[in-house]
Amino acid sequence: CGIVGVLGNHEAAPILVEALKRLEYRGYDSAGIATVNDGALDRRRAVGKLVNLSDRLVHEPLAGKAGIGHTRWATHGAATETNAHPHRAGKVAVVHNGIIENFRELRQFLSDNGIEHVTDTDTETVALLAGYYVDQGMAPREAAQKTIAQLQGAYALCLLFEGEEDLLIAARKGSPLAIGHGQGEMFVGSDAIALAPLTNTITYLDEGDWAIITRSSLEIRDEAGEQVNRDVKTVNIDA
Ligand code: GLU
Repeated sequence: CGIVGVLGNHEAAPILVEALKRLEYRGYDSAGIATVNDGALDRRRAVGKLVNLSDRLVHEPLAGKAGIGHTRWATHGAATETNAHPHRAGKVAVVHNGIIENFRELRQFLSDNGIEHVTDTDTETVALLAGYYVDQGMAPREAAQKTIAQLQGAYALCLLFEGEEDLLIAARKGSPLAIGHGQGEMFVGSDAIALAPLTNTITYLDEGDWAIITRSSLEIRDEAGEQVNRDVKTVNIDA
């Protein structure tokens, strides 16, 4: 339901939780964040209100300056911690808004290759597929491109990779996604409201776009894989 991402110069966890709070108005049943710290990918999730996630983070902190976060409105699978985002498979963590219509076929493909799902969600197949390609030796952006190309349905996605503290991959089809430009920092949000305290300089992805984001660069490609330019806008939203 709500997506946030950060490649920052400060601890990501509090920034992610704060940004998710700004998306609470959309409604949600569970929440979670993942970060990369000293190369290691880790996550925390909790059912219910964001305060449950914050409480968990007090007892089990998550360090790292790169991360993704999500508030979930379940469409496939009950509102449990197992089904909460970020979903993780090996070196990949994924947050997703929307519905992957062909997840059953993708599950079958994965299962034929010896990879079984552990959640009831459509989203987990995205993580498993990207994780599968990374395990096959693909670089994160290739694995993401190959994964995104196979997805049908409506989605906004943000992917984070183990060992990659300066990389987020985001994709949009049928569900909006805003990239926020900071000073040597970059942000992702389901809408610019999530990012208002962080930046008012926003690039919106177009339908079918996917983006390779680092702290110092934003590369956007369309569905055909061609590099494209999208406007950088200044939005005025009360922080
Ligand atoms: N379909 C996904 C799920 O049920 C994402 C739902 C959402 O947009 O929050 O986990």
